[in-house]
Amino acid sequence: MEDEENNYPAEYRKLLEKIEAIEKTLELYKVDKIVEDVAKETKEISEEAIFEDILQIKPISEIVLKPKAYLKLAKHSLTYANDSIPKKKWVEVIGLLTGNIRGEETPLEQVVVENYWPVDQGDAVSVEIVDQNIFTEIFHKKNSEHFIIGWAHSHPSYTPFLSGDDYDTHLRYQTFWNKSIALVIDPLMLSPKDYGIGVFRIQQEKQKYYQLSVEVEGMSCEACYESINTFMKNQADNSS
Ligand SMILES: [Zn+2]
Repeated sequence: MEDEENNYPAEYRKLLEKIEAIEKTLELYKVDKIVEDVAKETKEISEEAIFEDILQIKPISEIVLKPKAYLKLAKHSLTYANDSIPKKKWVEVIGLLTGNIRGEETPLEQVVVENYWPVDQGDAVSVEIVDQNIFTEIFHKKNSEHFIIGWAHSHPSYTPFLSGDDYDTHLRYQTFWNKSIALVIDPLMLSPKDYGIGVFRIQQEKQKYYQLSVEVEGMSCEACYESINTFMKNQADNSS
């Protein structure tokens, strides 16, 4: 496995190294423990909740975000734009999404976002994957169940939507895989009542984009908000 990684083209080794460095700086590996703790806490009430779900026959969301993916993206974006940083210093963040698809070509089809990989942050941010085939291959080798299903970036305080540049970038993702998604987060919108995210896809014939329904699997807005606050605080405590 490691030998194989050494054989990847230099630009991909560099990209993987970059992702690893950001994950380490932001201590994103701690997300597993947080998700585990939340799962334990909610276990007791979940049976009741499931029963309520059955009674309500909720429509199924088109996109399912695993808590791990959501919390990693929320932390990455909040680290570079939050109320304790002067607004003029806020920057956008960008990363890749890996996951898979459930019930393909059925009415129950869902794109499942398993993980978020932070790639960069800064002013002139646009993630261009130079050769998506190679990049996808890397993820296929790491975990055959997951592949690149889209990308994510932040809009600090200007709400989730696709700008003209975002549209062009996403068009390239959809050329690669037509069901690719563009996830946009506004970290300043996060609240106990709002995930602060929008998920988009382009309808190529009509040359416009549309929004998809999304849920964070097994976690309410409130629980997500609480967890992300713990996650942010965690690092502040460690670095002080
Ligand atoms: Zn944008």
